[in-house]
Amino acid sequence: MDNQMNLKPCPFCGEQVEIEYSEHTKHFFAYHDLKKSECIIKLAILLRNAHTKEQAIEVWNRRIEK
Ligand SMILES: [Zn+2]
Repeated sequence: MDNQMNLKPCPFCGEQVEIEYSEHTKHFFAYHDLKKSECIIKLAILLRNAHTKEQAIEVWNRRIEK
């Protein structure tokens, strides 16, 4: 099973998001492809307090539920 499957879509435009790790900031972040749609999320959202990809997914999903 791919963990990406558990990711909730963007709450603003409904696009599927991706989780990536940035070596530069040392943080995971969520982003999505904006080719298809304009979205309020222009840049990646930093997922603070996430140290593994699983945690990053949890952080993202919690954000969406709020
Ligand atoms: Zn979006």
